[in-house]
This record gives sequence, C-alpha cells and structure tokens, in this order.
Amino acid sequence: MALQRAEWTDVAACRGIESHLFFPPDAMESREVRSRRERQAKQVCADCHVREECLSSALTQRESYGIWGGLTEVERRSLLRR
Ligand code: SF4
Repeated sequence: MALQRAEWTDVAACRGIESHLFFPPDAMESREVRSRRERQAKQVCADCHVREECLSSALTQRESYGIWGGLTEVERRSLLRR
C-alpha cells in the first residue's frame, strides 16, 4: 500500500536536516559548491526509506527546484522526457 505524503514525510531521512542542502540558495552558487551540496544531499537520499514515494511525488507535482528522491531538477526533467 502506498504511503500518503503526510505519512512518508514523517519518516524521511532529510527530516530535521537543513533544507539548504537540498535547495539552491537565492544567491549565485559556484559549480563546485553546488556539486558538493548535491552530492551530500544525494547521500542522504540514498539511505532514505521513502525515496520512491518522494521521487514519485516530485515527478507528479513537477517540482521545479531541489533534490527530491535523490535526483536534481535537471535529472527529473530528463526522466520525464523519456
Ligand atoms: S528521498 Fe531525499 S529528499 Fe526525498 S524524503 Fe528522502 S531524504 Fe528527503
């Protein structure tokens, strides 16, 4: 049975972790800093038990920014084009 969003967000591995790890800052971010931030976020996602639910929700909602389900917005857009 699929979990509802209110349920899976309760057990998300990113719960309690600063959101700036998963979303780009308003100010410019260098390629190196962005790469390091995204790598760290993806490491959190890799250990997340609700990664599938998160990615599915992000794809359905067409989330435009941030790391969701272990994928960046660019990776999600690419996935949706297939
Ligand atoms: S997959 Fe990543 S962004 Fe999604 S809930 Fe889990 S830790 Fe958070």
